[in-house]
Amino acid sequence: MSFAPDDPVESVPHVLAVAVEPSRLAAGLVDARGDVLLRDRVTTPARDVWRSLERLIRRVIAAAPDGLGAPSGVGVSCVGPVDVHAGTVSPSMVPTWTNFTLREHMERLTGHDVELDSAGAAATEAERWLGEARGVASFLSVQLDGTIESACVIDGVRLSGSHGNAGSIAHVVVEPNGKPCRCGAHGCVEAYVSSTAIEAEINRPLGRATAPTVERTGIMLGRAIASMAAMLDVRTVFVSGNVIDVLGDPMLAAMHRELALRSRLASLTGLQVIEPHERIAPLVAAAALALN
Ligand SMILES: [Zn+2]
Repeated sequence: MSFAPDDPVESVPHVLAVAVEPSRLAAGLVDARGDVLLRDRVTTPARDVWRSLERLIRRVIAAAPDGLGAPSGVGVSCVGPVDVHAGTVSPSMVPTWTNFTLREHMERLTGHDVELDSAGAAATEAERWLGEARGVASFLSVQLDGTIESACVIDGVRLSGSHGNAGSIAHVVVEPNGKPCRCGAHGCVEAYVSSTAIEAEINRPLGRATAPTVERTGIMLGRAIASMAAMLDVRTVFVSGNVIDVLGDPMLAAMHRELALRSRLASLTGLQVIEPHERIAPLVAAAALALN
């Protein structure tokens, strides 16, 4: 928990932001400029996830200084898949949550309408609010961590789809009959490029992946991006996340080589894959759902 004594305590417009990730739950108060006023987090427990999240949120609300005022909204992001219309989430890394009615739980807890969306959607909103996607009309944004989260903006509109997972790249097939994926299919890109899948395969930390594994990760990511860019007709793709940070340039070089091989459409000339300079915190991304 952080709230420095010299932070302003006059009333400022802000929202309650909550980010559910495989490894941690984060909650905080974020103002309309994207500054975090207050934050707290806990490790995602193996069970009773809601009870931990509820406790965390109550702690954040209780820690808000007098005079700050009530949050004007609530933004909640959760690793996919989500069903934004039903308000439910089924994050595969939280096995006790299948079609969990997160929005209803949050609305009952906070007394507010809740903007719930996928982590990919939240990061995408944040990227065009505060990041390098400002002014980019059409783009795909991909985060490679323990899971693969992504979403897209086309002609200035973030696509949603039947459940809210439009632009999700995780289960694009990059190797028919390839590695088994946690979704039950084989050869999905997530089975090759998420840190969880890579570490399970090599049985050691991501940073100790061998050169062929790093190369393959780049190739598979390149294939998925080539397909998605062709389908969505975007020329800008943002990639970020722990997998990019750890595997670094050799992985990106393999990705660019594969992309050049697989993206031969004239309309994709100039396809740019950009690693944003600064990664926007998941909590700020969750706030973007309620603020934008
Ligand atoms: Zn899959």
